[in-house]
Amino acid sequence: MQRKTLIALSTALFSAGFAATALAQAPMFATTKVEGTDNVYIFRYQGHQAMFIVTPAGVIVTDPISYGRPQAAKTYLEEIRKITQAPIKYLVYSHHHYDHIAGGKVFKDAGATVIAHRRAKERLAQLKAPDVVVPDQAVDSKRTIKLGGTTLDLVFTGRNHSDSSLVMLLPKEKILFAVDFNSLGAVPSRLAVNDSYPTEWEASLKRTLALNWERMIPGHPGPGGRLGNRKDMEQQLAFMTDLAIEVKKASDAGKCFDPATKEVRLPKYATLANYEQNIEWNVHRWCGYFGRGI
Ligand SMILES: [Zn+2]
Repeated sequence: MQRKTLIALSTALFSAGFAATALAQAPMFATTKVEGTDNVYIFRYQGHQAMFIVTPAGVIVTDPISYGRPQAAKTYLEEIRKITQAPIKYLVYSHHHYDHIAGGKVFKDAGATVIAHRRAKERLAQLKAPDVVVPDQAVDSKRTIKLGGTTLDLVFTGRNHSDSSLVMLLPKEKILFAVDFNSLGAVPSRLAVNDSYPTEWEASLKRTLALNWERMIPGHPGPGGRLGNRKDMEQQLAFMTDLAIEVKKASDAGKCFDPATKEVRLPKYATLANYEQNIEWNVHRWCGYFGRGI
């Protein structure tokens, strides 16, 4: 892979730890079993990753992660086939962003029922991207999938990074797959906040924290490839709570967007990864909300 591609990839990542050097050393893709589980796996392709669950009755796949690279979903299926020949029963989308869900045809052709949040289905049906499969079924607030002894809860915890984020909870394993709205020890990136829902995001983090989980699989590899934990999410909630307070003050003083984007800073969180690089984008997005009502 060319160095230019690597840099573009690493800057697109939400988490800090999976830096260009780590990515340069990492193979293009990897499949790992989540420690302490019998049947929960992570498939990573470049800077994206997804969870899949293997049961005797079939496989539950999430996010095909193939935007601009159709080979990712093909590789994903090949990796699953090295583990099991069980039928592919479900494909669940974490939210509607193409970088996570393009490429689902491979799994649909293999027999999967495609599931997403209702708003994701609506958006995707409207946009009709050629490499995105429109979901067969939609979830509003919650749905439970039971397959081959495994229970997976699909829960909408409110609008956050998107208006269609489903968290996927394995209640027995206490593992959560949650994508793009918790950036493990880092200030959220420009892409993470771009079309997000300030303040509702905080409420969503609280609802997600109210679920019974211990480890979180993120949609982009965490620092050093680690999983997320409740402390990461609590830290992000604290950051966003303080961000809202400070930007609201600036907005009430008529400072949005300028000079607020240059002036509002949260030094308490300066040790978070990508603080210098991303704080302005966060202030900008929150300014849009408090200063213009959008
Ligand atoms: Zn996203």
